[in-house]
Amino acid sequence: MIIATDDLEVNCPACKGEGVIKADTCHSCSGKGVILTSQGQTLLHFIKKHIDKE
Ligand SMILES: [Zn+2]
Repeated sequence: MIIATDDLEVNCPACKGEGVIKADTCHSCSGKGVILTSQGQTLLHFIKKHIDKE
């Protein structure tokens, strides 16, 4: 299965990928400039499920 980065995250529509809005950290993406797509969230959830074991 091939997953492109664009399938996992997209530019944040609130700050248009800048990560900041008027010098303030964008709250929609926490300053990352990208937000996870549903596929990205699924993958992240899957990874965390298998990594976050103590
Ligand atoms: Zn943003």
